[in-house]
Amino acid sequence: MLQVAFGQSKYFSDNLVENVKRGFRQKLRRGEWLTKAPYGYVNNLKTRNIEPHPVYSKIIVRAFEEYATATYTIQSLAKFLAELGLTTHTGTPLGKASIVRMLTNRAYLGFIKHHDEWHEGSFAPILSPTLFEAVQKVLQTKRRPRHSKVRYNFPFVQFARCGECGGMITAQYTTNRFGTKYIYYHCTKKHGVCRQPYVAADSIASQMKAALQTVSLPLEEIEKIEKVIRY
Ligand SMILES: [Zn+2]
Repeated sequence: MLQVAFGQSKYFSDNLVENVKRGFRQKLRRGEWLTKAPYGYVNNLKTRNIEPHPVYSKIIVRAFEEYATATYTIQSLAKFLAELGLTTHTGTPLGKASIVRMLTNRAYLGFIKHHDEWHEGSFAPILSPTLFEAVQKVLQTKRRPRHSKVRYNFPFVQFARCGECGGMITAQYTTNRFGTKYIYYHCTKKHGVCRQPYVAADSIASQMKAALQTVSLPLEEIEKIEKVIRY
């Protein structure tokens, strides 16, 4: 008896899922938006589709136009849009993720996203493909990682360690009293007391040369080190 009941409810729920799926497929075929309208659009209950909101769709266009100038960060764009009235429901500027989602939303080109696939919608697009692509380009250049600090590639720093305490070696540029710029190395002294003084680069180079005579390393490693010494 129980089994029959389970069997029946499984049948009904499978049926329901199938009906919903069929409904989605039919809607997609007709180019109808499936869920709540994205910002800039409104759901039209009669057409069962979405349509551009007369005011909010213009804010979307403005957001893309402004961001395409490449003079905004995501945060400053969020602030700008908040001044136009586009905020979270508590009135604060939209978060970074929401702004990025907006700037990459192909719904504004008239597409429907379903299961990570884009289908052609039958509703009016808000943006031109040219403007949309311009924004994607700006987003991509900003996504490229940038080094906040200038990194000098000091030789020796990678593979030399302090002979006294085993601490890492670090390097700095300095200018002597004659105005000559040179590199000196020193122990980071992270292991506690260490009496090693600062050394000039050429002093380290000659120490390295001497050390290379006494150790056996793979040829390619030796060549790598020799290249550094000869800098
Ligand atoms: Zn040391």
